[in-house]
Amino acid sequence: MESDPLKDRRFVGSRRALIERIRERDVNDLEILRLFDEIPRHRFVPEAMWPRAYEDAPVPIGFGQTASQPSLQALTLELLAPGPTDNVLEIGTGSGFLTALLARMAGRLDSVERIRELSRRARRVLDELGIQNVALMVGDGTIGWRKYAPFDVIVVSAASPAVPEPLMDQLAEGGRLLVPVGDRSSQTLVLVRREGGQILQEPQHDRVTFVPLLGSFGWSDDGGNHGGE
Ligand code: SAH
Repeated sequence: MESDPLKDRRFVGSRRALIERIRERDVNDLEILRLFDEIPRHRFVPEAMWPRAYEDAPVPIGFGQTASQPSLQALTLELLAPGPTDNVLEIGTGSGFLTALLARMAGRLDSVERIRELSRRARRVLDELGIQNVALMVGDGTIGWRKYAPFDVIVVSAASPAVPEPLMDQLAEGGRLLVPVGDRSSQTLVLVRREGGQILQEPQHDRVTFVPLLGSFGWSDDGGNHGGE
């Protein structure tokens, strides 16, 4: 039997240093900072990457994918502010680290990943951490998850040529959607809100770099742009 991962205090010094990096990016929300202290990020990445798990940088997780930069994830949480009654949709489960953070802040969370093995690994770590308010699905997240819509918060963790139309449609009144929009090498984080029946788009941070969102309303596998057209 493995011991309780939440009590896994390995890398505690580098965890504290990471929290300092996050504070330098002006994220000061105590709940968010505490989650970065509590959730053992190294458990979500391959063991060979453990020494790099608390660097403020993307970490390779296999299948050509990366766990996103932690300070960007902290900014994401601050911008979207998921609350305990919120219904959240995440596109790109990846390592499952952001999934864990979101699940701790939200009411319930649905997360879609296109690579089955990544979803399976994320499930295992989430189970070890006792996180239960999460449904994982393997498939194309660019079409959303109609069964559980509408969502108060939608997070897209991969770069899209445009805001995927179905995700806007599945946003609840007062809902917030964050998605990196741009070309394959550089994107702007765009915050989309539905207010009074209107859709508002506000660019937040530019020059961020995410792995590509591949699917019907993202990029096609061969490098072309389906872009929802
Ligand atoms: N938040 C995650 C990000 C992982 S990278 C983390 O920090 O670990 C983005 C993930 O999006 C990759 O795992 C990739 O496989 C996945 N992805 C790309 N296109 C997708 C799509 N259309 N639907 C679901 N997942 C997708």
